[in-house]
Amino acid sequence: MFESLSDRLGKIFDGLRGRGALNAADVDAAMREIRRALIEADVSLEVVRAFVEQVRERAVGAEVTRSVTPGQQVVKIVHDELVSVLGSDAVTIDLNAAAPVTLLMVGLQGSGKTTTTAKIAKRLKDRQKKKVLLASLDTRRPAAMEQLRVLGEQVGVDTLPIVTTETPVEIARRAEREGRLGGYDVLILDTAGRTHVDEELMAETAEIKSIARPHEILLVVDALTGQDAINVARSFDQRLDATGIVMTRVDGDGRGGAALSMRAATGKPIKLIGVGEKMDALEDFHPSRIADRILG
Ligand code: GDP
Repeated sequence: MFESLSDRLGKIFDGLRGRGALNAADVDAAMREIRRALIEADVSLEVVRAFVEQVRERAVGAEVTRSVTPGQQVVKIVHDELVSVLGSDAVTIDLNAAAPVTLLMVGLQGSGKTTTTAKIAKRLKDRQKKKVLLASLDTRRPAAMEQLRVLGEQVGVDTLPIVTTETPVEIARRAEREGRLGGYDVLILDTAGRTHVDEELMAETAEIKSIARPHEILLVVDALTGQDAINVARSFDQRLDATGIVMTRVDGDGRGGAALSMRAATGKPIKLIGVGEKMDALEDFHPSRIADRILG
């Protein structure tokens, strides 16, 4: 039976009640449990090492207040440190620019990019009463364009009519014009994905970025792909300088460890998380909740 990190830490410290401050030996025992729990939660080794070191520094010598046990005290330090690595506040999509505000969605094929595009459109329409236009730039996969059209229809948002002879850049230009003339508040461009990062994809996406001048570049990554997702995020971010990350399939990622690695590796805020296939399965990212999940 799986035992939560909070419980395990509690046990280690059970015998230590009544001490005034945590000493190095107490803390080292706790660190082993924390390291193991983070690795089980799929946090990358590099991040685990840095994290454990930070917690150790804060924990050794920390005063144990009367109202809590030493175990609770360490759990709190770990929690606060997790939140600080994850980014302290939920950061939402920034629409503070001239209309149509352009959002560029990038990521690998299968990461959930098209689904997330439609989910974001639905959220902006329902919650912020925005008039949204969607456009797919995936000229290599007509099925992907059709998928976006169908999802757009499902959530009640317009999609740019499909013209199969255009290049991605031409579609981006037409979308911008249509966005402006049609009085849209937000334009979301869904770019082509690949099964892996390659130079052609990066060059194409960089060109689209220079033409479309998006206000947000949202990198969509699949939480279930673990270490791979982190490498992918780094490559995309180095080339395109993303403004935020959307992590999908967090519903399947029981422990939330991928989010911690992602934030630490890219330094970019996770803005939203996908928690299912349905169109409303999109949530704001709350660092504190993910920290709770990692602690169990
Ligand atoms: P794309 O190739 O990156 O555009 O990926 P899609 O948007 O087509 O998504 C691929 C599959 O992942 C689809 O079956 C989606 O329903 C599914 N999917 C996307 N986001 C989520 C999520 O947050 N949770 C779950 N469980 N499935 C998701």
